[in-house]
Amino acid sequence: MLEKTGVPAASDLENVMPSEERLNRGPVAVIECFQNIPCNPCYTACSRNAIKEFEDINDLPNIDHEACNGCSLCVSKCPGLAIMIMDMTYSEQEALIKIPYEFLPLPKENDLVKGLDREGKPVCEAKVIKVMNPKSFDKTPILSIAVKKEFAKIVRNIGMGDEDGR
Ligand code: SF4
Ligand code: SF4
Repeated sequence: MLEKTGVPAASDLENVMPSEERLNRGPVAVIECFQNIPCNPCYTACSRNAIKEFEDINDLPNIDHEACNGCSLCVSKCPGLAIMIMDMTYSEQEALIKIPYEFLPLPKENDLVKGLDREGKPVCEAKVIKVMNPKSFDKTPILSIAVKKEFAKIVRNIGMGDEDGR
């Protein structure tokens, strides 16, 4: 599925998802990087050494979720937009997810938007909590959005328009 559509299968996601126990302890990075390409800014961005040194530049990133504190430095440095932060402790009902976002215009804080799944389909309502727009050319803006906890593993993007055709 991944090779044909660019959308990871459930089994691909299971392999990179932190344990439920780790997810329930606070913010942590989820790295959905599945292709062996010559790239390692995630490793160089991580000052906690949570992402292990690459033996070969084409290696897939290897993250220690115990060492990761969800700081999100790697999120804005990844050219493949492959990393998100998941915080299941945000509130009783909601998770906070931080996603890289390259489209313009950027949403504004407190905007109500649609949470889109990995295929771009709207699946839930989402609220924009924070917009980080680094000035540096090699950093991608990061949106912090709140979604109901049951959608935290499903939402990977936001939509501000007519994604479901209605
Ligand atoms: S979120 Fe921070 S600590 Fe975690 S892997 Fe990324 S840079 Fe490292
Ligand atoms: S920076 Fe992104 S695309 Fe590059 S290896 Fe790391 S996770 Fe994969």
